Amino acid sequence: MDVRVRYAPSPTGNQHIGGVRTALFNYLYARSLGGTFILRLEDTDRTRYADEYVQNLYDTFSWLGFSWDEGPDKGGPCAPYIQSERFALYKEHAEKLVAAGQAYYCFCDEDRLSKLRAAQEEGDSSDLGYDRHCRKLDPAEAARRLAAGEKAVIRLKIPLEGSTSFQDALLGQIEWKNEDVSPDPVLLKSDGFPTYHLANIVDDHFMRITHVLRAQEWIPSAPMHVIMYKAFGWEPPVFCHLPMVLGQDGHKLSKRHGATSVNEFRKGGYLPEALINYVAHLGCSFEEGRDLFPLSDLERLFKIDRINKAPAIFDYQKLEWFNGQYIRMKDDSSLAALVRPFLEAAGLKVPSEDFLRAAMPLVRERLHFLTDAPAMMRYLLEEPPLAAKEDFIPKKQDLSRAIELLRAAAMVLPSCDIKDIPACEAAFRAKAEEIGAKFGDLMMPVRVAITGSKVSPPLFESIQLLGLAKATARIEAAIAGLS
Ligand code: GLU
Ligand code: ZN
Repeated sequence: MDVRVRYAPSPTGNQHIGGVRTALFNYLYARSLGGTFILRLEDTDRTRYADEYVQNLYDTFSWLGFSWDEGPDKGGPCAPYIQSERFALYKEHAEKLVAAGQAYYCFCDEDRLSKLRAAQEEGDSSDLGYDRHCRKLDPAEAARRLAAGEKAVIRLKIPLEGSTSFQDALLGQIEWKNEDVSPDPVLLKSDGFPTYHLANIVDDHFMRITHVLRAQEWIPSAPMHVIMYKAFGWEPPVFCHLPMVLGQDGHKLSKRHGATSVNEFRKGGYLPEALINYVAHLGCSFEEGRDLFPLSDLERLFKIDRINKAPAIFDYQKLEWFNGQYIRMKDDSSLAALVRPFLEAAGLKVPSEDFLRAAMPLVRERLHFLTDAPAMMRYLLEEPPLAAKEDFIPKKQDLSRAIELLRAAAMVLPSCDIKDIPACEAAFRAKAEEIGAKFGDLMMPVRVAITGSKVSPPLFESIQLLGLAKATARIEAAIAGLS
């Protein structure tokens, strides 16, 4: 069988972790079986629609680095892939269901429906939803009212008895009594717009979708979808409802837990590889004893059998760890290119390509996020302000001793061959011994003078990058400032 899967977002918000997980699993499933992955824009909800959300969708996936085979931007044999361009198809099919006796026109106006709702809320009857008032209308009578220009919606006839079931590829048999399925949902609104349910099923059919991997939120709609397939006489796709994504407190992942939109992660200095790798593991496992998988491995290893039924817990710390790992894997040029926009955004004057590349070995192991770079690298790009006096003073010593140590350093440093770091270190060790100081005590104020901070990337490597003259000048400036 030719596997065809789809990601079918509604552009009513920015792309978030849940959506990316759905898209990724569909993509991986297609790739694992040599199938086709389709993007379909479900933009039937025109009140919450915005162009910027469509743009955000494209930006997100181009940043993440994986894409669909067919879609609005790519075209394909089932074009158009935007529901608002397919309205005629939905109307035609809703009408076909009416003709087949599987759906009917409902003329109930908002006034009647709201009275019905109010009565249901007051009463203690368990009947909720539409009361199927128009289901009994004689079709000839309905046709006459329509012809006379009366407004009507089209509703699906949910069977009054029996039950509906389907085999979820992950969760197994799911069965609903038909009396518990929403009574006769609207398929086509009176303005001719389809509802999500109708458009979704018609498109999955005509786009020849074989498997629907989607969030568990959609389980309650699935029986109605299966009923609709039957009404059309179509074969439903295989459904696979993915495990929920929860925060660490067991509640559905939301803004309260931290970043959830991909934009936020991107701005927060995450690498797309880290995000993909982490999201792939939300409710799925790939190989025991291994954490890091290039996309090509995920594509090869993905199997529905490897998806868990239990909800996935989103662990920001684990993701941070992944991020650090992927930063470590970057070579100097790629990391420099990733870091540059963050330095620029922080208002730092960013140096030449060569300088930035040479700085990467100093920070690579220390970066958890690309956003750490500006603070960590500022001293390499600008003169640091004089640190607080106490920062210069080694343990159990005083300010005058700190100044003495700086003077000693200012004597050794200019004669060092900074290309030879071990030799420089040896020269400083010898100087420390000469003045009766511990090596660490000598280096501590030097580090603060040169980097502006007690903790910094490796010192001699930093001096190498800054050059002896600049480094010495910073020591002199510190001596002057402290004296
Ligand atoms: N447009 C729906 C959504 O936004 C698609 C649901 C489905 O995959 O069937 O999630
Ligand atoms: Zn009605």
